[in-house]
Amino acid sequence: MLRTHNIGELNKKLAGNKVSLVGWVDTIREHGKVVFIDLRDRWGKVQTVITAKNSDFDKIKDISREACIHIDGEVKERPKGSENNEAGEVGKVEIGIAKLEILSPSMALPFEPEKEVSEDIRMKYRYLDLRRPQMVSNMTLRHKIIKFIRDYLDKEDFLEIQTPILTKSSPEGARDFIVPSRIHPGKFYALPQSPQQYKQLLMVGGIDKYFQIAPCMRDEDARADRSPGEFFQLDLEMSFVSQDELLDMMEDMFVKLVKTILPDKRLTFDKFPRLSYDEVIKKYGTDKPDLRKNKEDPNELAFAWIVDFPLFEEEKSNGHYAPMHHMFTRPKDEDLKYLNEKDAHKVKSYQHDLVLNGFEVGGGSIRIHDHLVQDKVFDLIGFSKKQKAYFEHMLIAFKYGVPPHGGIAPGIDRLIMVLLGQPSIREVIAFPKNKEARDLLMDAPSEIDESQLKDVHIKLDLKKKKK
Ligand code: ASP
Repeated sequence: MLRTHNIGELNKKLAGNKVSLVGWVDTIREHGKVVFIDLRDRWGKVQTVITAKNSDFDKIKDISREACIHIDGEVKERPKGSENNEAGEVGKVEIGIAKLEILSPSMALPFEPEKEVSEDIRMKYRYLDLRRPQMVSNMTLRHKIIKFIRDYLDKEDFLEIQTPILTKSSPEGARDFIVPSRIHPGKFYALPQSPQQYKQLLMVGGIDKYFQIAPCMRDEDARADRSPGEFFQLDLEMSFVSQDELLDMMEDMFVKLVKTILPDKRLTFDKFPRLSYDEVIKKYGTDKPDLRKNKEDPNELAFAWIVDFPLFEEEKSNGHYAPMHHMFTRPKDEDLKYLNEKDAHKVKSYQHDLVLNGFEVGGGSIRIHDHLVQDKVFDLIGFSKKQKAYFEHMLIAFKYGVPPHGGIAPGIDRLIMVLLGQPSIREVIAFPKNKEARDLLMDAPSEIDESQLKDVHIKLDLKKKKK
């Protein structure tokens, strides 16, 4: 390693010690024969000093902000009154530079990191934006939250299993991203909107407890709380579980997560209220109510469960029903008698949504495990023979000893955005798409070579742009 310490490790106790440090030039202040460089890495920032007596002094002229440098030097306690108290332990020391090496210079910056700048500029130069302490903190907490979830579920005996990315259309209600097949002309894969069918098939496969930090791809528009194109879900499924048991476990996980990783946050409810859909619609006019006691308090977190949803949305003009959650959600046992064209609007389901401070941060359900009920739901949705054939693998699998099962899929990015009180989902994603679903850093989507199109048997038919 080029370093003996990272900058966050420096403190008064090291005074008198020789250290090697690496990092980026945060600021540079020239006072004639003395130059101060604030050196920054992921863990902190420290003041370093070089004087004209040093044989490396003339390298200063080649150093600008955000250059990557290496220094050897001595840790010195800063004189009383000149400490940087905001920086904690590191602020109490400075480094007297003995040797200075430029690892990589930096061009003039396209924006000043500490000033307001347009989001598109931040995205185009995301690697510079990621160097800001706020982004370092967001990425660090994102890692810690996901690691906590993994460790918790591992202790509960869940298996983390990866499901395919190149697959078949899945019914989460958004448009699919499609991938043309070279080997099978005229055929397409779809990118998964969620691993819904795979996780249910894993239950048929006896896996019993599954989870995955799953990438989900949906062709839908951006919102402050929705990343266009792709996002991650904590996708989870369990067999032989009641709805209450599933919600109890998730609740225990989230309470412990907040207390461990975010100790400054305060939970409005240690026991999350379980409210019926009808009740919240009547009382709050929305199925994702914000139940915080004090909406001005940035550290308050009000989780709640919404349950007892109708199985179907309002009957559509075509006389068919649309699933409120998705087509695999199990109707309440006592409402099975209403599962017909006339009464289907009366059927309640085992859907459960997790809401947090007015955001829906997760949804799931206990699933249908009876192929006859599944078939009936397909009928009520108005599936044609062809559409039904599309899900034939599910109907067949459901004839081979299906365990009753259920699950949930909290959206990782949105959950972290709300937990950290960030203004947009893009603040907690390393390389997000912008509001127009473009990756400004890589410049995607982009045109591809004629030959690549030919390989996958595609001819473009683009409308000419109007001048
Ligand atoms: N697949 C569902 C979704 O993405 C979640 C679930 O039912 O587990 O909304």
